Amino acid sequence: MGWFPDDMPRPEPAPDEAGFWAHCRQRSLRFQGCAACGTLRHPPLPMCPACQSCETSWQEAPAQAEVYSFTVVHHASHPAVAARVPYVVAVLEFPGCPGVRLISNLTDVDPAKVRIGQRVTLWWDDVGDGMFLPRFRA
Ligand code: ZN
Repeated sequence: MGWFPDDMPRPEPAPDEAGFWAHCRQRSLRFQGCAACGTLRHPPLPMCPACQSCETSWQEAPAQAEVYSFTVVHHASHPAVAARVPYVVAVLEFPGCPGVRLISNLTDVDPAKVRIGQRVTLWWDDVGDGMFLPRFRA
């Protein structure tokens, strides 16, 4: 069982996101980059916004991230999250990955103690069917 209960809806990847989720299935957090100019982007896109190249590469993210922003969810907007409120949704930045931000959950934290700039560590949430979601803890 994952961090959220099993009835939590899972991501439904769009075609452009297939590479990102395929890496997640291997417990590898990678961001799409441009093979021509090196610009990273997330979420994945079919074309580089900097140079319009369609050639891509995948750069591995470090396991340590930094909280760029966050919110504490107190209202269960879906029945599956009722047992987890209050929980933290954070926007994270990664050293060496300029311009990329990832939205995820901070787990095993006191929501009242989360701070901008806080260092957090990646862990892989096994949500079943071979799918792993990147989540973070302090
Ligand atoms: Zn480019």
